[in-house]
Amino acid sequence: MQLTPALLPGLIRAINAVIETNADEVTALDQAIGDGDHVTNVQRGLKALMAQSEELAGLDWVAAWQKIGMTVMTAVGGASGSLYGTLFVAMSKAGRDKALDLAAFAEIFSSGVEAVKQRGKADAGEKTMLDVLIPVAAYLRQAASDGVALPEVLDNAARTAIVGMESTKDMIATKGRASFLEERSRGHIDAGAKTSQLMICALVDVLAKQLTTPA
Ligand code: ADP
Ligand code: MG
Repeated sequence: MQLTPALLPGLIRAINAVIETNADEVTALDQAIGDGDHVTNVQRGLKALMAQSEELAGLDWVAAWQKIGMTVMTAVGGASGSLYGTLFVAMSKAGRDKALDLAAFAEIFSSGVEAVKQRGKADAGEKTMLDVLIPVAAYLRQAASDGVALPEVLDNAARTAIVGMESTKDMIATKGRASFLEERSRGHIDAGAKTSQLMICALVDVLAKQLTTPA
């Protein structure tokens, strides 16, 4: 199996579908502790990416991540647009001259997450998308150094994303709009953590199917 950007149209479609299916739930989460626009922000980005997906399919990963990042930054409003955009632009920068095996991808993704931390001046435990992204990045690095087989890596990455998303429920928000609510932010899952988890699980599903499809 070749993990090339030719997979991108299918990946973007799968992400778009899972966000669509869960749109009402994500809106309710962002209404509870934010301003309710998170899903429409994300969907605006996905619409722009769907329109570009054939073009993205013809690029290499470094160019594709750069283009995705720039599109997301310009198309998506809200805090999440610049944060998700930053993730991909930083992945592009970190991916230069690297052959894409699991160890390299783990490093590239970790560089992207590090850039999101810096951009949002946030870290784990602050009830944001980082409570999904940081543990998934850490798991990928661990799996690469332990030599875990790819199907198992995908399974565990999805599980890690779900645990991270759920962990935001009991946290008090200290970054973003939800932080205005202080103690009252507790008891609700963070909307950005939810969309990050949904996107990671959708990616994992598509990649897992690729692994089992004969070339
Ligand atoms: P806005 O908050 O501007 O309305 P969105 O609703 O699109 O933007 O996105 C909100 C999500 O962005 C939150 O649920 C949270 O996961 C994430 N977020 C907000 N601020 C930060 C930050 N400083 N660092 C990381 N993630 C953040
Ligand atoms: Mg919002």
